[in-house]
Amino acid sequence: MGKLGLGLAVGCAVASCAIAAVMVGRRVRSRRRWWRVVRAVDEFEEAALTPVGRLKQVVDAMAVEMHAGLASEGGSKLKMLLTFVDSLPDGSESGIYYALHVGGTYFRILRIQLGGQKSILGHDVERKPIPQHLMTRTSEEFFDFIALSLKEFVERTGNNSQYSQGKDLGFTFSFPVKQTSLSSGTLIKWTKGFSIDDMVEKDVVECLQRALSRRGLDMNVAALVNDSVGTLAVGHFYDKDTVAAIVIGTGTNACYLERADAVIKCQGLLTTSGGMVINMEWGNFWSSHLPRTSYDIDLDAESHNSNDQGFEKMISGLYLGDIVRRVICKMSLVSDIFGPFSSKLSTQFALSTPLMAAMHEDDTPDLSEVAKILEETLDIHDVPLKARKLVVKVCDVVTRRAARLAAAGIVGILKKIGRDGTGGITSGRVKGVKSGKMRRTVVAVEGGLYTSYTVFREYLNEAVAEILGEEIAPYVILKEMEDGSGIGAALLAASNSARSVDTVQVL
Ligand code: ADP
Ligand code: MG
Repeated sequence: MGKLGLGLAVGCAVASCAIAAVMVGRRVRSRRRWWRVVRAVDEFEEAALTPVGRLKQVVDAMAVEMHAGLASEGGSKLKMLLTFVDSLPDGSESGIYYALHVGGTYFRILRIQLGGQKSILGHDVERKPIPQHLMTRTSEEFFDFIALSLKEFVERTGNNSQYSQGKDLGFTFSFPVKQTSLSSGTLIKWTKGFSIDDMVEKDVVECLQRALSRRGLDMNVAALVNDSVGTLAVGHFYDKDTVAAIVIGTGTNACYLERADAVIKCQGLLTTSGGMVINMEWGNFWSSHLPRTSYDIDLDAESHNSNDQGFEKMISGLYLGDIVRRVICKMSLVSDIFGPFSSKLSTQFALSTPLMAAMHEDDTPDLSEVAKILEETLDIHDVPLKARKLVVKVCDVVTRRAARLAAAGIVGILKKIGRDGTGGITSGRVKGVKSGKMRRTVVAVEGGLYTSYTVFREYLNEAVAEILGEEIAPYVILKEMEDGSGIGAALLAASNSARSVDTVQVL
């Protein structure tokens, strides 16, 4: 080989070494970046863990907070509101009843015909948008519109002879209300874009009742109810062992049947039945045992109601997709696995919970649904399969934690009323002794997250059984309920319509 040949050979060898070194370097860097993503997901998973021991701490904390909220006004983050519902429908109701649900941009009117023996013979519903301008005008204009719509509905659905029977109306008003009796309550504040200033601190039933008279509608608002109380009413209508109800949809809440004498903050509360449904407003529950991550802290800090609704922000539909979005954002920041950073990743609520659920439940072998949603919703393209798998894992961690915490909340309620197989609590202290005979216990569950998200529902059901243990679990039944805010309100109007005297007294 001549000098030139030797030089060429050496040059080639050096060049291929250099290329190989660059390739190896790239691969090492890419692997390092990949491990950063894996580590971010692992850290999140670790922080969000809900082993059964931790869930039991949440159970105890829920029971103790419930006790504190019943002991004194402001004694807990749980408001534990009196609903003045002291007896629930039992299936014997008959006749025609109406319900009105005002809770957002749409309102609903409903008419049911009850035939006794737990039968609903007829059921008409109408859903109508509330004109935007009425949401910020006067209470008179607002309720006139509602009353006119109700009048048209009554005239359309009921022939005259039926209408003469159906005069009682259940009213679900999904805004914060301080209830003063079963059929009265004052608006504390508006939410969800409403701001009819002259209504704040006014009795909402009185406003509605006056509008009905102005329209010549001879109807009686028999019950003002929260949607969770409506769900409990539907549950109890079909099954008398129903003692609590949970709503897990966009937001979350729970209510249950309590002994009137356990409502310590309301001394002298007397009810004919000896019981009273308590609206917990459990979305605001908080405990140091909740597995909170940095993503939850950021979500709360950037929310319009920070330090409020802490439990809701970990378990309800409005937030789950956004927690996942925050973790994907972090994954994208620590590596280039998702390509160039997409600004959608820093947009609040860019990923909704139903889309997150669709990624979680993607059963295609190449996770094509995940790829599509990342592309169309978050503007992230060409994500490798192994990264798509990690995204599914993040969805799983968020959903599993939410469902298991909701399950712990449910068992907390059962513990408070002595239906979890332990001794319940006295004076805020938890007793750990199993005692007495277990009774069949039903919890009614409503809301889109539970009814439409199969994996969430399965995780929740499993966790309730896991916390209770195999001896007690068979006694506790979770029943899916539909439309507590509609049918439930009409049922409460039915079960309370025949009353001529108040069955609840506060001495
Ligand atoms: P609301 O809570 O507003 O009364 P719903 O009870 O119907 O209404 O719950 C709607 C919420 O449930 C949505 O905001 C969404 O978070 C959640 N949701 C609905 N469908 C699904 C789904 N398929 N997968 C996951 N979450 C869902
Ligand atoms: Mg609802």
